[in-house]
Amino acid sequence: MSESLPKLQMYIDGEFVDPTTGDYFESFDPYTAKPWCLVPRGTEDDVERAVQAAHRAFSDGEWPAFNASQRGELLRKLGELVAENAQMLGELEVKDNGKLLSEMSAQLKYAPSFYYYFAGLADKIEGAVIPTDKASFTYTLHEPLGVCAAIIPWNSPLLLVAWKLAPALAAGNTMVIKPSEYTSASVLEFIKLVEKAGFPKGVVNIVTGYGSEAGEPLVKHPLVQKVAFTGSSFTGAHIYAEAAKDIKRVSLELGGKSPNIVFADANLENAVKGAVAGIFAATGQTCVAGSRLLVQENIYDEFVEKLVAFASTAKMGNPMNLDTQVGPVTNLPQYKKVLDYIDIAKGEGVETVLGGGKAERPECGDGWFVEPTIFTGVRNGMRIAQEEVFGPVLGVIPFADDEEAVAIANDVMFGLAAGVWTEDIRRTFTMAKRLQAGTVWVNTYRAVSYTTPFGGYKRSGLGRELGQEAILEYLQTKSVWISTAEEMANPFVVG
Ligand code: NAD
Repeated sequence: MSESLPKLQMYIDGEFVDPTTGDYFESFDPYTAKPWCLVPRGTEDDVERAVQAAHRAFSDGEWPAFNASQRGELLRKLGELVAENAQMLGELEVKDNGKLLSEMSAQLKYAPSFYYYFAGLADKIEGAVIPTDKASFTYTLHEPLGVCAAIIPWNSPLLLVAWKLAPALAAGNTMVIKPSEYTSASVLEFIKLVEKAGFPKGVVNIVTGYGSEAGEPLVKHPLVQKVAFTGSSFTGAHIYAEAAKDIKRVSLELGGKSPNIVFADANLENAVKGAVAGIFAATGQTCVAGSRLLVQENIYDEFVEKLVAFASTAKMGNPMNLDTQVGPVTNLPQYKKVLDYIDIAKGEGVETVLGGGKAERPECGDGWFVEPTIFTGVRNGMRIAQEEVFGPVLGVIPFADDEEAVAIANDVMFGLAAGVWTEDIRRTFTMAKRLQAGTVWVNTYRAVSYTTPFGGYKRSGLGRELGQEAILEYLQTKSVWISTAEEMANPFVVG
């Protein structure tokens, strides 16, 4: 490990601190496959300090004294600071995860909207006065939970921080964030903006490190009331089981194997772009990747030909260049995993019509690049059609009619998203109803907004982020009964 690389620091109780053990690990730039900075290797002791700080901040001092409008003002200020620093934060994310600068800077320019939205929502969380059948004035209060943990994956770090942090703070909670071990730098830069916005110390803390060493003690900590997790279904299931031991609340945004369904009546030019957006944008490293392309039989050959022609023009190379369209895979284990899945698919007997291995182009240098890959001859029972690859690998499956499209689309354990390409209005509504997915896009793909709930059906997750209902994931409801009766009723009978 090169000691000459810049050393990052964690952020606990309003201060940048070194890890208790003094240990660090390297973070790699996927475009060069070389380390570029050292990340603190946080452990249980650091988690303890961070959770205690968050607990103190929740229980005493300035933060619990703020009213909802004041919390909203701080969130608005934070959004403005993110907007001012969007380009710098986007560039940092590219350095760590290799996604395109065009994608990451667009994400960071959009990120303030999430803070503004929940800033506005903070003072609009209203309880109810409930007319009961008893002599009582009865009302409900929505109260914060306490210390919340946010565990973040590597593909869109600051966007996914915003999805959790904004509603959690709007609701009055405090938070400890554990970014991915592959992408901690942008989150540690972002925390400077949280400080600058004026959030009191301890309200937001960051512990970096590996999942088993920093994430696990955070999930298990008895003072943590809720775990908001985005990541793989495997880790999500483990976190769910751990959180259950203390009856902690969880929200889980997990993996997917989303069907993108093209009917013969679709606008095929748009559908080709939609298929490419679904799988090759972000190098396929998005939870909503449309990795199963279902194409109606009577246009199958024509569509595959158009798709291959378009996808084969994708420009690979340095993700910092604004004209690059496909960048590297984010980390070495993921790179190996994608290549393994390509071999698995070939072993299952698919036909490779585009790519199918490492990208050995001069513009890709030593980076972890995989060729945009399209397989035909895929059957839905194959592993390549059932398991999440999280890379630029597409399986194309033919279908005869609406019934078969629905049957294939739903025959998978995931249910994060689905795409439908059709010009038929009746089909639009019936498909939207029948597809088992938390999001259905018709004649578009990957559209997401702060206004609209996002989350999974089936094993793609629990709970919803974004939209008004997201804030309820960070609140608990208290019912208050104030008797208006003159006399106390019979104490031996439930009243
Ligand atoms: P991952 O599950 O390997 O890691 C996610 C986070 O969990 C990391 O911070 C990691 O350190 C931490 N972690 C790992 N083990 C842990 C443990 N035992 N206890 C606590 N924390 C632990 O996922 P990844 O590879 O970083 O991200 C890719 C996955 O994320 C894909 O499956 C993708 O579909 C999913 N994802 C889902 C969404 C969504 O909104 N549904 C969005 C983005 C990514």
